[in-house]
Amino acid sequence: MRINENFLKLPGSYLFSEIGRRVAAYGAANPEKSLIKLGIGDVTRPLPAAVLEAMHKAVDEMGRSETFRGYGPEQGYDFLREAIVEYDYARRGVTLDADEVFVSDGAKSDCGNIVDLFGLDNVVAVCDPVYPVYVDTNAMAGRAGEYNEQTGMWSGYHYMPCTAENGFSPEIPNCKVDLIYLCFPNNPTGAVATREQLKAWVDYANANDAVILFDSAYEAFITQKEIPHSIYEIEGAKTCAIEFRSFSKTAGFTGTRCAYTVVPKQLRRGGASLNAMWNRRQCTKFNGVPYVTQRGAEAVYSEAGRKQVKENLAYYQKNAKVIFDGLKGAGLTVSGGVNSPYIWCKTPNGMGSWEFFDLLLNRANVVTTPGAGFGPSGEGYIRLTAFGDAAATEEAVARIKAIL
Ligand SMILES: *Cc1c(COP(=O)(O)O)cnc(C)c1O
Repeated sequence: MRINENFLKLPGSYLFSEIGRRVAAYGAANPEKSLIKLGIGDVTRPLPAAVLEAMHKAVDEMGRSETFRGYGPEQGYDFLREAIVEYDYARRGVTLDADEVFVSDGAKSDCGNIVDLFGLDNVVAVCDPVYPVYVDTNAMAGRAGEYNEQTGMWSGYHYMPCTAENGFSPEIPNCKVDLIYLCFPNNPTGAVATREQLKAWVDYANANDAVILFDSAYEAFITQKEIPHSIYEIEGAKTCAIEFRSFSKTAGFTGTRCAYTVVPKQLRRGGASLNAMWNRRQCTKFNGVPYVTQRGAEAVYSEAGRKQVKENLAYYQKNAKVIFDGLKGAGLTVSGGVNSPYIWCKTPNGMGSWEFFDLLLNRANVVTTPGAGFGPSGEGYIRLTAFGDAAATEEAVARIKAIL
């Protein structure tokens, strides 16, 4: 037999294991030091009370024969799909049908699984730096070509550098690409896209028979009114874009697992409906999200749920401001943070990403993420996250200021 040899081409997932190794080594050598972790993209605030209450109630339903539920619809229960359509879209002026929403166990899995729908010879455009899932899942499928250890890049991708020069916003390709991954608000840079920028992408995709894969996992962190939350706020997007959303960062569901993907029925390629194809894919390979979890997700949209989610987001947004203002006050060049839980910070004095990471670890006892781990254009930056404890975040910023 033969294995899928594309897996053998993948470089090791070096970033978080290397961070873990350096943090463990420092901790072992300096057991008296307390480290503050502003590196990992995971939430820390507990689930909102309204979500807990709904989940408890749903667990009880599962324990009684009259209300027990077995397999649910692969696409998600109507109660959740309808709440999504109403609260996440209709209230922002976007009209969707419930059968354009597919509930899932995560935006990571959906971003990875969506590649099932597309031919292997499509050209994939990815940002640099980038959320690694887009890159690695297409490499597993055989769409990436060969990996170059020296450059850290694959031969088959169209890379779109996101740098200070272009405001961390990818440029429209001057050639034909087929699949375009966009993530706004961005992980790792925290950058957002304006309505005009998104319109240019939608026009490009419609004109070039391309599909935009729009990851808006962080849309709830948008604070500026003029920034679109959904690609479907842009005219023409329903004929060219798939959108990924998640309850993970919005409502603390990273460990609870619930997300959804929107595939408009107007979106057709190669004579086929992508909505029908994704439906077929999900029905064949996925058996739905647990009922209890979906009731929890539904409660995110209740009056109490929306208020509690807002409070949690405000907590993180305050942390983001503390980091952003603090580092800026220390003379560092920072971006992101305003519409995002991520702050993208330029290393001082031309230091490398890992060099600055080590300095902050060893001298300030603060753990960050080296930008170079997200792609070559991330070199010279570090990422800090607003997902920590508020007091610890203030302490971390004070420590960084003290050593610069
Ligand atoms: C955290 C994150 C997600 C959400 O993934 P889940 O599987 O839903 O937890 C999606 N995209 C990006 C860029 C993320 O950082």
